[in-house]
Amino acid sequence: MGSTSEVLAVNAQLLKSKASKLSVAGIGISICAIIIASIATAYLQTNEISLASIVEAQKKNASLWLLDMMPFIFAFWGQYVSSMMAFEASAMVVDQTSDLRAQATAFERQAMRGTTNDALTDLPNRVLLMDRLGQAIKTASIEKSRVAVLVLDIDRFKDINDSLGHNTGDRVIKQVAYRLRKVIHEPNTVARLDGDEFGIILKKLGTNADAIKLVQEIKEALHVPLKLEGVRLDIDASLGITFFPEHGKDAQILLQRADVAMYQAKKKRSGFIVYTTALERCNTRSLSLMGELREAIVNNELAAYYQPKIDIKTGIIKEVEALVRWRHKVHGLVPPDDFIPMAEKTGLIKQLTLWVLHESLTQCAKWNNEGYKLRVAVNLSTSDLLDIEFPETVTRVLNAHDVPSEQLLLEITESSIMVDANRSLETLTNLSSLGIRLSVDDFGTGYSSLSYLSKLPVDELKIDRSFVMDMANNSNNAKIVQATIDLGHNLGLEVVAEGVETASNLFLLQPLGCDTAQGYYFTKPLDAKEFNTWRGQNIASGRMQNKEGELYTILPQK
Ligand code: C2E
Ligand code: MG
Ligand code: MG
Repeated sequence: MGSTSEVLAVNAQLLKSKASKLSVAGIGISICAIIIASIATAYLQTNEISLASIVEAQKKNASLWLLDMMPFIFAFWGQYVSSMMAFEASAMVVDQTSDLRAQATAFERQAMRGTTNDALTDLPNRVLLMDRLGQAIKTASIEKSRVAVLVLDIDRFKDINDSLGHNTGDRVIKQVAYRLRKVIHEPNTVARLDGDEFGIILKKLGTNADAIKLVQEIKEALHVPLKLEGVRLDIDASLGITFFPEHGKDAQILLQRADVAMYQAKKKRSGFIVYTTALERCNTRSLSLMGELREAIVNNELAAYYQPKIDIKTGIIKEVEALVRWRHKVHGLVPPDDFIPMAEKTGLIKQLTLWVLHESLTQCAKWNNEGYKLRVAVNLSTSDLLDIEFPETVTRVLNAHDVPSEQLLLEITESSIMVDANRSLETLTNLSSLGIRLSVDDFGTGYSSLSYLSKLPVDELKIDRSFVMDMANNSNNAKIVQATIDLGHNLGLEVVAEGVETASNLFLLQPLGCDTAQGYYFTKPLDAKEFNTWRGQNIASGRMQNKEGELYTILPQK
């Protein structure tokens, strides 16, 4: 394409030639007028029309001289006006062309950005991240330097979306992107990979410790509470880390392995994990387990383990929580975190809940027959709460084992209630009217509103173990525990602290008025036989005594 001045010249030439044609017509008309006027004047003066009389008329008549000048005036004026018109019109055309061209360039740039940048946060997207990672690896191979790849995923983001809506979810993502940008600077890259997942490339890395230091900075930046529409949100994230060259030589592998590490960090609630090949084995194991779970339920490969919940004031075992395990032929005892999420995804969770209900109520009936009245707590999932027939199913199982409904407690997490708050409320109301006790599990990790909570027909709040476990070292967590105990009591609920691992945990909980404690300090979850042995040993050692028909644990004194 030519330059603007070339375009202008061509356009002007075109218009000038058109305007010139008009001025030629003007000149023609004025020449005709001169001829007619000269002939008329010659005839009036000499009464004849001849060349001599016309020349005579031209010589003597001054008004004809003026008329003779007309073609020149027309020619000059025509030329001048046509040139001006041509230039103005041409300039207008060029202006419009430039506008159109600027618009086209902007559209082109926007389209280009759409393929490389994320629309919500304007951060680079996966495509651009992969491109930059490829470049970083090339440079690092030549310079013999190192690169770190981080995958970051916001914790419990689904809960935010489910409880507070997608608009709030989007705003949280934007905020996280903003905070990441503040911590990660050139030549490093932060990109949005997908949903609530971000990818980070750290170039020219000194040591691995530099990457870990940055992870701490990222976590600190995210920890500042976020206030959206009057709701305070505590944001946290899990990160997986890989290093070039030790964890992979190409971009795809490095990112995929950082993702595997991130999933493990999330599962273990450890904040971040650096990739190792052992993690890969965990990941492939999870995938192969997915196909085997249905058969495992049918073939009775599951086992119920029991962990006591102990009355802090009296030391009595109030109830036991049934926690499912999978006795796998190859992998041994598989913990629930490795298969419950997939059971929830595949819809097998309903069968699993039913299995745990049958198993734990069979055990409860056995203890009843031995004269040991104990309540059992069973964990529910979202699908159970959304199943309108679930209360009927529970009644059938209770009847089948001849266990009264007061001896059953159902634990429901805050986040599973919030998936469909109205339907959950209906199911919970029906269960409660049957005389079954209800508990809100992992309290403090979801985003349920307090006004909604006060409407739920629940009897108990279980403070999440993440707050209880490090109460002694983290004053914020200690404050959260205190506030939750007060809140529960004000709502007329009993409060349970889970994750009581040490005597010092217990000593901190006692003066706060917490009702019940559960945790490794007393015992890890045990199968029924081990549980009976544990109870027997505690009675024998005097730590637990049988007094007036009641069993209770003597708690250590301060
Ligand atoms: P949860 O219901 O909050 O259960 C408590 C978890 O905390 C158990 O993990 C228990 O072993 C662990 N725990 C207890 N005391 C301590 C302690 O002092 N320190 C630490 N670090 N951990 C402690 P577990 O058995 O691995 O179960 C994990 C989760 O899996 C459960 O959390 C529950 O959400 C789910 N789950 C377990 N069994 C079932 C089930 O039958 N159905 C459903 N839907 N979910 C289940
Ligand atoms: Mg539980
Ligand atoms: Mg819990």
